[in-house]
Amino acid sequence: MERIYFDNAATTPVDPRVIEAMQPFGWDVFGNPSSLHAPGREARAAVDRARAQVAALIGAQPTEIIFTASGTEADNLALLGTFSGRDLQDSRIVTSTIEHPAVLETCRYLEGHGVAVTYLPVDGEGLVDPDAARQSTVPGTRLVSVMVANNVVGAVEPIRELGRIAREQGVLFHTDAVQAAGHLPIDVRSEPVDLLSISAHKLHGPKGVGALYVRDGVRLQPLIHGGGQERGLRSATENVAGIVGFGRAAEIARSEMSAEAARLVALRDRLIEGIVERIPGAYLIGPRYCRLPGHVSVAFAGQEGEAIRLLLALDEAGVAVSSGSACSAQHAGEPSYVLRAMGFDPFRARGSLRLTLGRFNTEGEVESFLDLLPGVAAGLNSITTRRVGQA
Ligand code: PLP
Repeated sequence: MERIYFDNAATTPVDPRVIEAMQPFGWDVFGNPSSLHAPGREARAAVDRARAQVAALIGAQPTEIIFTASGTEADNLALLGTFSGRDLQDSRIVTSTIEHPAVLETCRYLEGHGVAVTYLPVDGEGLVDPDAARQSTVPGTRLVSVMVANNVVGAVEPIRELGRIAREQGVLFHTDAVQAAGHLPIDVRSEPVDLLSISAHKLHGPKGVGALYVRDGVRLQPLIHGGGQERGLRSATENVAGIVGFGRAAEIARSEMSAEAARLVALRDRLIEGIVERIPGAYLIGPRYCRLPGHVSVAFAGQEGEAIRLLLALDEAGVAVSSGSACSAQHAGEPSYVLRAMGFDPFRARGSLRLTLGRFNTEGEVESFLDLLPGVAAGLNSITTRRVGQA
């Protein structure tokens, strides 16, 4: 059997059209975009084109896009760049308990340097309550940072409302859109967002390139000092091939997003329905509808501790899924902090299985998976299964 890849929230396969766009930048076009000669100008033109393509994906001006080396770096630049060089006395950041470590660990770092941090709670579906954000955005708050969509449970957060609350208080609003950009429509012209992080490898682009949208007029301090590239916010010779790939990936995502999302929602819903039908006690984690198009997160009542064994058995059967998030590979078997924040006890918080679909997954793969799931689960001798479509 062909291998099935259902872990698109960890990373996506690079679209062949992206690889084609990047091809000349491996050898033929090698100039440094800062050079004044023809090879340099050619590289600069390619970076400028990509900047416009990434900007268009989120309705930004090209000058508002700062290329970084990852989504993690974009998150760090947003948070540290807001606070660094300023008086940290009585300053505060408001974030949620279910942010990616790229935000949470940066908040902890800031906490160590005297910034007060408020971690907003989430409900049982992983959604932040805007009223809690309103009460927490007290004087001294410099930044509110809440993600567009959660990587572990797929919940899509009420960003517009949270951004409005921040704006009413005169506070900057950052959102980590790494899981959402290219999959959900985002338009910074109509959303009250000041800073927004994206990562190319989550939208069928290459790894090692990301971007931070910085609204015109918002002032940040750089993390990396040097030659002044990226409007002085991210010095270093640009990763031209990666940026070109990112641009093309953004352009494809923009033109195909609505059709792709509709197709993925249908596949996602078929997966959810099929799993629940085949495994008594299987239940969906996170919101049923307010979730990313291709995102499924499930657990098995009373057998939550079996998720890792099921993941390994599925891997052996040729299906790649995740136990929560890619970052949890080092912490396999530990309760997920996201599920704990959603009110799961430590036992139940050990056991989710995440299946995330992308552009190259097919209906046939979903059906093949559903056909093999009961057999694989039954092989563990602990999860009860039910045959479907047979007497
Ligand atoms: N933010 C979220 C929500 C993510 O899911 C990820 C990656 O999994 C990141 C940030 C980090 O992005 P990158 O892998 O580009 O550093």
